[in-house]
Amino acid sequence: MAILDDDDDAVHGTPAGKIAVPEDVQDAIRTLIRWSGDDPDREGLLDTPARVGRAWKEYCLGYGEDPALHLSRTFEEVGGYDEIVLLKDIPFQSHCEHHMAPIIGHAHIAYLPNHRVVGISKLARVLHGFARRLQIQERLTAEIADCIWTHLEPLGVAVVIQATHACMTARGVRTPGVGMTTSRMMGVFRDDERSRKEVLSLMGLGN
Ligand SMILES: [Zn+2]
Repeated sequence: MAILDDDDDAVHGTPAGKIAVPEDVQDAIRTLIRWSGDDPDREGLLDTPARVGRAWKEYCLGYGEDPALHLSRTFEEVGGYDEIVLLKDIPFQSHCEHHMAPIIGHAHIAYLPNHRVVGISKLARVLHGFARRLQIQERLTAEIADCIWTHLEPLGVAVVIQATHACMTARGVRTPGVGMTTSRMMGVFRDDERSRKEVLSLMGLGN
């Protein structure tokens, strides 16, 4: 995959190191600019179609990867560790599939190992692999939990996502500051109330 950066393009064409954006993609963005009420041929907008095209490739990098691969290298020698592993407050960005508008939030991802653990940063990689696609928050939450459940075979998985949706805050009902929380509990976190309370409390969500 080509390196993508967000430097402003000073010149037309495809600057070194940047991917080419096909003409039909740029045409589509010009059409959208016109539909929005502006003139795609005015100077400030001339390079916008190519920039937007590259930006969308970057927002959607997840389509080019299999998030489960991040969980393929596990460590079985965990020194008898049999407590919850939690990665808390992981910032992420996604885009809603209904409006292609940003979803910005934090995820808490926990599992209770059953002899196998992964490097902790891998949990964040799984999140980003699914987030960098067109999503709905409910499915994002479920996909992360299912992926960990299937590939680590832990005793429990808990995923909680808190996010704001630009399609709610910037358009439609326009309610800035309203967040949405979704969760998926599997194994002991679903079946055992004490385990669920423990993981939610570790996530800072207990009462
Ligand atoms: Zn939306």
